[in-house]
Amino acid sequence: MERSYIGNLKSGEVSISGWIYEMRVMSKMAFLIIRDVTGFVQVVVKGDELLAQVNDLSLESVVEIHGEVKEANVKAEFARSDVELVAKEILVLNKAEEIPIHVNEKTVESSLPNRLDNRSLDVRKPKIKAIFDIQSTIVNAFREFFYKEKFTEIQPPGIIGTSTEGGTDLFKIKYFDRDAYLAQSPQLYKQLMAISMEKVFSTGPIWRAEKHDTSRHINEIRQMDIEMGFADDMDVMKYLAASVQFIVEKVLKDCKKELELLKLDLKVPEAKYLKYSEAIGELNKNGFSMKEGDDFEPEAERKLCELFPDTIVFTYEWPTEIKPFYIWPKENGVSGGFDALYGGLEISSGGQRVHKPEVLIEQLKSKGLNPEDFKWYVDAFRYGAPMHSGWSIGLERLTQAMLKIDNIREVTLFPRDRKRLTP
Ligand code: ATP
Ligand code: MG
Repeated sequence: MERSYIGNLKSGEVSISGWIYEMRVMSKMAFLIIRDVTGFVQVVVKGDELLAQVNDLSLESVVEIHGEVKEANVKAEFARSDVELVAKEILVLNKAEEIPIHVNEKTVESSLPNRLDNRSLDVRKPKIKAIFDIQSTIVNAFREFFYKEKFTEIQPPGIIGTSTEGGTDLFKIKYFDRDAYLAQSPQLYKQLMAISMEKVFSTGPIWRAEKHDTSRHINEIRQMDIEMGFADDMDVMKYLAASVQFIVEKVLKDCKKELELLKLDLKVPEAKYLKYSEAIGELNKNGFSMKEGDDFEPEAERKLCELFPDTIVFTYEWPTEIKPFYIWPKENGVSGGFDALYGGLEISSGGQRVHKPEVLIEQLKSKGLNPEDFKWYVDAFRYGAPMHSGWSIGLERLTQAMLKIDNIREVTLFPRDRKRLTP
């Protein structure tokens, strides 16, 4: 018999396939809750032969069940309330051994490390799956937005010969008989494309050997980047706000069930634009004592988001001295660099870039870097480079901010941090 999906069951004889989420076995009867990709349904089992079979089954075993769909009034969490299946035949496709974490969390919740060790079981929980269904929608909506805006999706390299920012936070790897690094950002490459193709975007993993141990840092990150020719910092900040608004609208429309499961009251954010100096003013009015040249501590980022709830708070015109070399220096020591804060977190950094080789060389030197190491990059700007700007949103950070989740590892399928490299 052809497979029917649980979400589509109406009436008659069907065959479903899925996992056993819950089992209640009594002497004359048993109730199973079966899960497939479309939902959960209660299966009623009667008769000695079938009951003997169920007695031998275990949670999360994969089964195929043939039976009759009946109207019902089921009151089991997640399960369809309108129908149940009366079993006629049960085929055990792959019996599960005793599961190491609870998939059905009615009784005990497992610890995060245990859950991450068993991620394939963990995502079987509706609430956990909901997070990654929403994340999938976020990436797709990002792509959809910039595709509609006529940007080209590019695929920058993951292995690089020179560091992007000259930082120490690079993973060094062996590349045949040379040293190479894992890319810490697509920055330089997307710029090279923007000065030629004008409008580009990318989504992909990058790696940072930062020795953080915080709830918002991991060592492998997925970034959603754009870079755009003939655009300044304000132009791309507007794009950032519009794209995040589009993403949130899409999640609101396509992930209603998931948001409900996570008990989230998500709102389309507004955008607020504060110059760096204005942001410091706001913070100092609220108990901080910050001065020009200070970076924002996490408490300051949280405070700004608190002052402007459900808002993407941009801080722009950051001091040149605390932004990377590729950020355009405006006048009076301020730069074209900006950050975007949302849900208490930095979700993005961006800025207008340096498009003139002589300025770039100056900037590299002022940051203690050797322009010779960046020759291929600097030279590219000699052959007709328009002004350009862009930004990078961390996918995990955006997911974390939107879903108000404390630990970034919760929104990362297989997090890489200082301690964790498997699975
Ligand atoms: P932070 O100051 O929060 O450590 P950053 O300024 O070093 O971040 P950027 O170089 O600006 O990070 O990277 C762009 C975006 O990528 C960040 O705004 C953030 O969303 C994400 N990101 C960067 N580093 C990390 C990390 N270690 N873990 C998770 N997300 C990150
Ligand atoms: Mg940043």
